[in-house]
Amino acid sequence: MMEYSFELGPIRPPSEAYSLLIRVTRNCPWNRCKFCSLYKGEKFQLRPVAEIKQDIETAKAIQDKIKEISWKSGYGGNIKQMASMVLNNSPNQAFYNVALWLYGGGENAFLQDANTLIMRTSELVEVIRFLKETLPSIKRITSYGRSKTAAKKKPEELAELYKAGLSRLHIGLESGYDPLLQYMDKGVTAAEHIIGGRKIVESGISLSEYVLLGLGGREMWREHAIETAKVLNEIDPDFIRVRTLATNSRMPLCDEVESSNFTRSTDEEIIEEEKLFIEHLECHSNYVSDHITNLLQEIEGKLPRDKGKMLAIIERFQTLSAQERANFRVGRRIGIYRNLDDLNDAPRREVVEQAIHRLSKGNNEVDDKTMYTLMERFI
Ligand code: SF4
Repeated sequence: MMEYSFELGPIRPPSEAYSLLIRVTRNCPWNRCKFCSLYKGEKFQLRPVAEIKQDIETAKAIQDKIKEISWKSGYGGNIKQMASMVLNNSPNQAFYNVALWLYGGGENAFLQDANTLIMRTSELVEVIRFLKETLPSIKRITSYGRSKTAAKKKPEELAELYKAGLSRLHIGLESGYDPLLQYMDKGVTAAEHIIGGRKIVESGISLSEYVLLGLGGREMWREHAIETAKVLNEIDPDFIRVRTLATNSRMPLCDEVESSNFTRSTDEEIIEEEKLFIEHLECHSNYVSDHITNLLQEIEGKLPRDKGKMLAIIERFQTLSAQERANFRVGRRIGIYRNLDDLNDAPRREVVEQAIHRLSKGNNEVDDKTMYTLMERFI
């Protein structure tokens, strides 16, 4: 009997929540960034194309199985309804992923893990073509890539990938400030970020650049904000996506914090950094804040049109009383508030006030260390 399972990697971007996940490489070929714990201790591996194709065939078999059950159970092929039922009773993660993908419309696929671009172009093209042939409902295929690898690809190779069906690349830019990139051992320079990013934009592949707010710490926050904006202005990607630094003990950055080489910025300092960053952006990107680590997730918009609106949200936060700001921070970090308007939602506020009382051990002030610990749960 066929085993309805295939290999999955550990993560995908938040925007790929309903994507079919196909693991084309394992782990990260660089694996040295100080702020990243994801693949530490794991060895990078390219997967043979035949093995990846087998996984795609299994994904199709699971899809067909869900369709078959749908007919047999009297849902008349209503695959979305069937998929939602399968979600509650999946035999394994792969089955769950296919059901979730079908539930989301069955149109998107994400190729894992950290740097798919490192595959030989001809092999990646073969995988993308096979995926589209086998599962023709797929209209959008996206993946992660490193700027350094993109910078090394020939423009014709990226154009070939686009033609084959690679719709979007998600790149971890993190920062555009060279001393910070070097300190964090990102393995790329600002100039390489620009070359890699421009090549992707020019190939037609949509580009999503991730920025890590707070990465400069108290030592380099200004330069981080300004130089990152400058690099993005040069690249002019389709999307700028921000996340906020959160740490855990598996990150090398933790040792730097403990030895006082790196001082973490507080939430309020990071908001000041985000303000400086946005002020310096002169590009046409969509600014997206789709990560729960961000304090003000409502700062989103199309640049340059919405810049004023985005900065006004920051101003609204910064002009709240110290007590209101502290209340909001806790509300965000315990996952109760979504945006500033929630401060006026009495039931939510009640929950936050109780949490503040608990976390501050009675003095109504939650210290930064506790806030950092709360954030750890999100990564
Ligand atoms: S390149 Fe990406 S996945 Fe690899 S170590 Fe750096 S941040 Fe982590």
